[in-house]
Amino acid sequence: MITVVGSYNVDIILKVNKIPEIGETVIADEVYINHGGKGSNQAVSAARLGSNVRLIAAVGSDTYGYNAISFWKSEKIDTSYVTTKNVSTGTAYIFVDKNGRNIIVVNRGANYYLSEEDLDKGLSGDILLTQLEIREEVVKKALREFNGIKILNPAPAILKDTDILSFADIITPNEIEFKELVSTDDIEYGLHMLLKKVKKAVIITLGDRGALLATKSGKRVLIPAPKVNVIDETGAGDVFNAALAVYLERGYNIESAVEYANKIAALSVTKMGALGPKLEEVNKFLEEL
Ligand code: ADP
Repeated sequence: MITVVGSYNVDIILKVNKIPEIGETVIADEVYINHGGKGSNQAVSAARLGSNVRLIAAVGSDTYGYNAISFWKSEKIDTSYVTTKNVSTGTAYIFVDKNGRNIIVVNRGANYYLSEEDLDKGLSGDILLTQLEIREEVVKKALREFNGIKILNPAPAILKDTDILSFADIITPNEIEFKELVSTDDIEYGLHMLLKKVKKAVIITLGDRGALLATKSGKRVLIPAPKVNVIDETGAGDVFNAALAVYLERGYNIESAVEYANKIAALSVTKMGALGPKLEEVNKFLEEL
C-alpha cells in the first residue's frame, strides 16, 4: 500500500484576456474548477496505476470538502484518514492570460490544519509519499515515524527545516526546487550535499529531458523521457512521483522505477490536466513505445 500525506486544493482557473491591474475589473472568458493539490494529485495518479492508496489529508466543512471525499472514493482511494476541519477547503485561484502567463493566490484552508495527531494510526503501508503543501512539522513526523520506503517531493520550493531531508530515503526535486535546496548552480556539489543528508537517493526531474538519478553509492544516471506531443505540462511532477511510488511498491529497483515514472509522466503531458492517466491508456502507450 502507498500512503500519501499531503494537500488538497480546489483549483479555480480563470482564463482572461488580460490579468487585471490593481483596481481593475475584467471578465473571465472561461472558468474551470478542478481537483488539485499535490497530495491529492499524487494519490489519485498512483491509484489510477493500480496501487492501493491511502490518503491522509484535511478538507474543510464545505461543499468542496464533501466533493473531494466522493471524488477520492470514486478513484478507489482509502479515505478513512481524511479529516474534516471547521474551516474552508484549500483553494487556489489561478488567473491565466491569453499568453499563458499566470498569477496564483492560494488559500491554504484546511491543509494548514492537518496536524501531527491526524497522522496517528494512519502511518502504515509500504511506501510513504509526501510533499510541502502542508505544515513542515507534519511532514517531518510522517517521514520520521513511517516504516517503509519514504519519498519526499520537496515541492513547492519552500523548505525551511532542512533536517527533514535526513528522514527521507528518496527526494525528488525538479530543477528549480533542487537549486533552492542547495543554493548553488554546481549540480555535482549540490548532489553531494543532499546525498549527505538523505538516506538513499536524489532524483532531479528535468522536464522533457527526463530525470537524473543520483545514489549514495555514487551512481549518476540520466534517464531520458520518451519524446511526446506536449499539450499541458501541469502536474507532470505529481504524476512522476506517483508512478515512482507505484513501481517501488511493486518491488522494482530505483532505476527501473525512474524509467517507468518518466514514461507515465511523459504520457500525462500529452493531455490537459494534472491527474495521471488510467491503466488502459498506459498499457496502450507502453505497447506503442
Ligand atoms: P514539474 O512538473 O514538477 O516541474 P518536471 O517539469 O521536471 O517537473 O517534469 C517531471 C517529469 O515529467 C519529467 O522528469 C519527465 O519524466 C516528465 N516530463 C515533463 N515534461 C515532459 C515533456 N515535455 N516530455 C516528456 N516528458 C516530460
